[in-house]
Amino acid sequence: MGEAFEKLRGLCATIYDLVGANEVLSWDEQTYMPPGGGEGRARQHATLERLSHELFVGDQLGEALEAAEAEAAGLDPDSDEAGILRRLRRDFTKKRRVPAEWVEEFAQAQSLAFQVWRQAKLDSDFKAFQPALERILALRRSYAQLHAPQGSLYDALLDDYEPGMKASDLRAVFGELRPQQVQLVRSISESKAAVDESILLRPFDIKKQWDFGLEVIEHLGYDFRRGRQDEAPHPFTITLHLDDVRITNWSTAEAFGSILFASMHEAGHAMYEQGISPSLRGFPTLSGAALDPSHSVSLGIHESQSRMMENLVGRSRAFWKGYFPRLQAIFPSELEGVDLEAFYRSINRVKPTLIRVEADEATYNLHIMLRFEIELGLVEGSLAVADLPEIWREKTRDYLGLTPPDDRSGVLQDIHWSDGYIGYFPTYTLGNLISAQLWEKIRQDLPDLDRQIEQAQFSDLLAWLREKVHSHGAKYEPMELLHRITGDGLSAKPYLQYLTEKYSEIYELG
Ligand code: ZN
Repeated sequence: MGEAFEKLRGLCATIYDLVGANEVLSWDEQTYMPPGGGEGRARQHATLERLSHELFVGDQLGEALEAAEAEAAGLDPDSDEAGILRRLRRDFTKKRRVPAEWVEEFAQAQSLAFQVWRQAKLDSDFKAFQPALERILALRRSYAQLHAPQGSLYDALLDDYEPGMKASDLRAVFGELRPQQVQLVRSISESKAAVDESILLRPFDIKKQWDFGLEVIEHLGYDFRRGRQDEAPHPFTITLHLDDVRITNWSTAEAFGSILFASMHEAGHAMYEQGISPSLRGFPTLSGAALDPSHSVSLGIHESQSRMMENLVGRSRAFWKGYFPRLQAIFPSELEGVDLEAFYRSINRVKPTLIRVEADEATYNLHIMLRFEIELGLVEGSLAVADLPEIWREKTRDYLGLTPPDDRSGVLQDIHWSDGYIGYFPTYTLGNLISAQLWEKIRQDLPDLDRQIEQAQFSDLLAWLREKVHSHGAKYEPMELLHRITGDGLSAKPYLQYLTEKYSEIYELG
């Protein structure tokens, strides 16, 4: 590429560094910052966000982008440069449409809604949260109108997290998923098979669990020279830049597995970031409404990587054939009298719960569908915020066979809406579905996969993911990437088949 592209790269590098520095502050805020540091930190965030926003939507970047596009005319559309220009053009156009007043108003509404939500959840009082959520919803709707004055407002919101995806795509795939998942969960609950989860509630030492998790993710291929794991109230992955991708984990656990599976989940996210091609570096992308230093394709594809490590690898029999003896050596007394089969069943126990983050593989998507349907109604205007607690109760009964006793374990449980994330939940289910679609292809390409996993050999798996998924960064739209890899569009079939096979065996379903 020529001079114009290099000039664009230089401008982007400055923004990228500002965005990355802001992420360092976020990481610190959620790990080691003393409680008194909050106010000053909010100011630092605001300053860095304003500077990077101004540079990103400024005329200088717009002109440089245009010049680079002219220079790139005739370039192979599969080249990294062409991919970068497509994504920058998309993000630049989207961010330019949003007036500074909206950004400021939304930031205030967000911070207020978050504080109100936190208290309302403690008090289990939805009425207290209702006005704040109404304001967030109104602002998100006006944001969607900026992007889609004629079209579907939900599509406009979804597009921030899952470029190119439409609500109608989700409706179709969820429509296929819903009856079969509900039926599967019903059959499991009627099964007489013995699945004992009490094994996991034995007193497993936290430090040993933490270290075992580190050992496993190092085997998976998480690069500790370019990453680290720290304690935080919730597990998350954060990219400071592509050679420093950190993860966090809980330092407490109610049962064995929560620390290990969180490590594997976040390592799945982090290995994705660590595997993005060096030639794609230094270009910030729009993730949600904010700029991000990660340059990944979408949240759904991202989540497919974490779910794959956590579930398809971490909850598989092959994995535990390899690791159970090691676990027994670490916890000889805790695992006394427990064999591989009993342990495998216990970590795959299915039990409908009211709380999404505690949900197992069989029920997880039901939590997401419920939220998607509610979000859709709110954004399209067929549902009022005031009706949420009742709708939530109804849908929870229909899908999970449970009734939330209060709003805390119902409509107030998730942070997302208070944070302004409307249109985000479906990406979790997309992650589940895509992980199974990719897995099907991986199995064809690596027929020896189970044996490799049994021997804690993950290098072929990682190399496959690097080549097919990670290295491409945000070069393609998510469904295009999926199609290039699997030859297929989004489909619920592989995931349904995976669940049905796995649980038919564990729960001895007919
Ligand atoms: Zn995740």
